[in-house]
Amino acid sequence: IYILAIESSCDDTAAAVLENNRVLSNVVARQSIHEEYGGVVPELASRAHQQNIVPVIDVALKKAGISKEQLSAIAFTQGPGLMGSLLVGSSFAKSMALALNIPLIAVNHMHAHILAHFIEEEGYDKPEFPFLALTISGGHTQIVKVNSFFDMEIIGETTDDAVGEAFDKTAKILGLPYPGGPLIDKFAQEGNPRAYSFTKPKVDGLNFSFSGLKTQILYFIQKNSKENPNFIEENKNNICASIQNIIIQILMDKIKMAVQETGIKQIAIGGGVSANSGIRKTLKETENQYGWKTFIPKFEYTTDNAAMIGIVGYHKYLENHFSNAATVAKARIEF
Ligand code: ATP
Ligand code: FE
Repeated sequence: IYILAIESSCDDTAAAVLENNRVLSNVVARQSIHEEYGGVVPELASRAHQQNIVPVIDVALKKAGISKEQLSAIAFTQGPGLMGSLLVGSSFAKSMALALNIPLIAVNHMHAHILAHFIEEEGYDKPEFPFLALTISGGHTQIVKVNSFFDMEIIGETTDDAVGEAFDKTAKILGLPYPGGPLIDKFAQEGNPRAYSFTKPKVDGLNFSFSGLKTQILYFIQKNSKENPNFIEENKNNICASIQNIIIQILMDKIKMAVQETGIKQIAIGGGVSANSGIRKTLKETENQYGWKTFIPKFEYTTDNAAMIGIVGYHKYLENHFSNAATVAKARIEF
């Protein structure tokens, strides 16, 4: 089975070709236009998708060595995401499926961040059901109990900002360009995580809150910069390491609680923030510490990509779970 997958939910235009559960090609066109605005500008994103989508799909097919006539189905991101961005990918997928007379498969982007673990990759084990997924991305922070491919239950989520937003917004306070998450990660690697201490928000149960942390860091920076205008420059590594450390603590506390509540000790992380080296390292350490089994995705399957859409498409294909031209893109979508 050959699946062409298209992802266009935010600011990356991505296409991938899968042969069953193996990735033949995985192409992403990043949009650098948003850097100067300090965040994604929806109107610019959809325009860039329109320019990128044909060449990206073309390259994905060429790299895979597959002609479009060989395709079994086309999978696309139905949502959640930016409406204008989703419309470009979904309209293209619909027209192409219609032209080729092959099935169309709508995919939930958040399911894809989780099910990316089922891509066949040398050196990577697949989780067994049931497992816990910690989805940490630019728009979401969720703990999900994954019972089977299409039976998942959100057991905890953020009540305000997503963890990716916490990274990006605090990075902005430090004067770093968008998206700042990877830069905080980079500077943190050279810093002392215990240099500065921040307080954890008090949130009931398995839910999260990150907006208070952002404000706390803003005041911390303002206060210290008043005393020393070069405070950020002189302490960048330590500040980043301390911010990353508190975020990791917040995530780990809730994961521990989720393990306690469910008795499930298999933990898979997904989403853009799962690229974070501190989170990856901390989670890996729990294997010896607590006897958990952890699943950390290959780097290229963490931030938005189409391979993850393709693997969901493949499993939906096996279950004859198809969509049709009446399927609409949804900015918000039922989990
Ligand atoms: P969603 O998946 O919720 O719709 P999204 O698709 O915009 O949101 P992703 O592409 O999954 O988000 O993730 C992007 C986020 O990941 C950004 O906030 C970015 O800063 C963050 N991120 C990427 N790499 C790292 C890293 N190494 N450390 C911390 N954050 C990171
Ligand atoms: Fe995403």
